[in-house]
Amino acid sequence: MTTTPDDDEVNVNAFLAEYYSDVLDCGHRRAEPTHFHANGIPMTAGYAEMSDGRRVCYACADDLQRGAMVQNTEITAYLSSDGEHITTWTGGELAKVISLGSATTGFGGSEITFVRAVSPDGREWYGRNGGKGMSVRLKAVK
Ligand SMILES: [Zn+2]
Repeated sequence: MTTTPDDDEVNVNAFLAEYYSDVLDCGHRRAEPTHFHANGIPMTAGYAEMSDGRRVCYACADDLQRGAMVQNTEITAYLSSDGEHITTWTGGELAKVISLGSATTGFGGSEITFVRAVSPDGREWYGRNGGKGMSVRLKAVK
C-alpha cells in the first residue's frame, strides 16, 4: 500500500477537523495544541482521560482533582519546578508548599525531598519525592 503526499494532507485535515470540533465529556473543547509533529498532527491529545474513561478538558480535570483532594487523605500530584506549589499534572494549583527539606539517604546517597503543603480547605499534607518538578504522593496530616 502506498500513500501519496495528497492523501497524507487529507488525513491531517480530517484529523484536525475532528480535533477542533470534538466536544469532550465535560462539555468543553480540547486545549489548543502547542506542539505539532512534522505532518501537522498535534503531539498532545488536548484532553485528560479520567480513570473511568471520561475525557475532560484540563480545567475540568484540575477541578476534579481538587474535589478528590477534599474527599481523600492521599493524593498523587506534582511538586512545581519552583518548589512553591503542589499542582495537577497540567499545572493547576492544589496546595501551597509551606516547607521543603531534603536529605541524602541510603546506600546510593540519593537525595529525598520532604514536602509539607496546605490545601485551600486548610488541611496539611505531607509527602516526599525525588525533588522539584517531580510527582509526589501526599498524605493528609491527621
Ligand atoms: Zn471541561
